[in-house]
Amino acid sequence: MPYQLPCCRLRDGELLPDYFRPVRIICIGRNYADHAREMGHDPAQEPPFFFFKPITALARDGTFVMPSYSREVHYELELLIALEQGGRNLSLQQAKSCVGGFGLGLDMTCRDIQRQAKEAGRPWELAKGFDGSAPCTAIAPGSFDDLDSLGTMTLKRNGEVVQQSHWRDMIWSIPELLQHISHHIALQPGDLIFTGTPAGVGPVEAGDRLEARMEGFPKSLLLQITKEDI
Ligand code: MN
Repeated sequence: MPYQLPCCRLRDGELLPDYFRPVRIICIGRNYADHAREMGHDPAQEPPFFFFKPITALARDGTFVMPSYSREVHYELELLIALEQGGRNLSLQQAKSCVGGFGLGLDMTCRDIQRQAKEAGRPWELAKGFDGSAPCTAIAPGSFDDLDSLGTMTLKRNGEVVQQSHWRDMIWSIPELLQHISHHIALQPGDLIFTGTPAGVGPVEAGDRLEARMEGFPKSLLLQITKEDI
């Protein structure tokens, strides 16, 4: 029986509606050329890649607590794709039909810890997968064709625009990245895809307020940055 995302059950302010049971968080790295370059990489030479966050990284908007072990926590604004179908070795057409919903999220990253991990050849989990490292809006149901109704996504830090981009600027389109992932692992209904961040990533400090919006999308993401658990 096909997995369904009935839009009638989406309730205002809900993080993830009960019909959407997240299986995994799959994150795309370097899917915008301008961000690849700001991180010191050549997008023509190094294609996008993917990694995972645990489900415990998911958080609603509201308060973000900075991990005590990092001195450099960055925001990364990303378009989220929720899958209602999965599969292996998908065609581009099959990949399109996997799309079941959208959201906006922040791939919060301890940049200093990530840098140390890269230098040591170690995994990124403490940099990318800590508790609450994936704050996101509610997931709104939508098909691949509904992408056309979504426009520019914008992140403001303390009222100032720090990231602004459009999903059309991705290196890999949504079907291409789903196809690519499906050549390595079987995609599942309930997978939540963080599709990569554009240029403009930067640090947050306690007291900051982040606000993410996307044209044509009904939900915004508001985040108050704090140092200690409150
Ligand atoms: Mn990211």
